[in-house]
Amino acid sequence: MKSAAAALLLAWAAPGWSRHPESEDRQRLGIVCQEAARQSRMVRSAMQAEVERLLVLPFVEVCWLDWEDFRPGHVFDRLVVVKLCSRGEDCAALARLPKRRALAVTHITDGVILPFVELNVDWIHWLVAHSGLAAKPFPHAVQVGRALGRVLAHELYHVLAETRMHARKGIAKAELDCHDLVSSMEGFHPTELELMWKTAFRQPLKE
Ligand SMILES: [Zn+2]
Repeated sequence: MKSAAAALLLAWAAPGWSRHPESEDRQRLGIVCQEAARQSRMVRSAMQAEVERLLVLPFVEVCWLDWEDFRPGHVFDRLVVVKLCSRGEDCAALARLPKRRALAVTHITDGVILPFVELNVDWIHWLVAHSGLAAKPFPHAVQVGRALGRVLAHELYHVLAETRMHARKGIAKAELDCHDLVSSMEGFHPTELELMWKTAFRQPLKE
């Protein structure tokens, strides 16, 4: 099963990789974080590293920005705004959910998935702290950051693939539990990565 998945990924990636693209062939995914400053530098860098580990898209560069540093002159091929919601934050989409225990929510209007994500940071912090599964080699902040990165990667799947569908397993499954947040787990299936890439970055590479 493992080797079949690897072969599929190579078959999909090979045409692009074989062309040795110039830097202008690269596409930029901008992720703008609101309220990120309330999280420690270690949490934020662990979150970013986990997203980039999971989101392996050919020739796509992930660019992180804080909302306060975002300027109209910044240009990206795709842009996603992520709000890190903690106590006292006005998080409209999360607040509207019947059960406030969702890990995150992506905005949808008239059936259209919008590039706005709210992460339930306090709840994710709590789950990691009370999981009883903490991986000792990693500091708590790194575990929280990795958990945030996994939840964010799941929501980025909905945004970039423009789908509300879920997988049966891996990071795109419907519900991530404590174990998924702090232990090693499967990432995206190659077909899910391909769907994200084709949907969000479908422009053909320059010859
Ligand atoms: Zn989902």
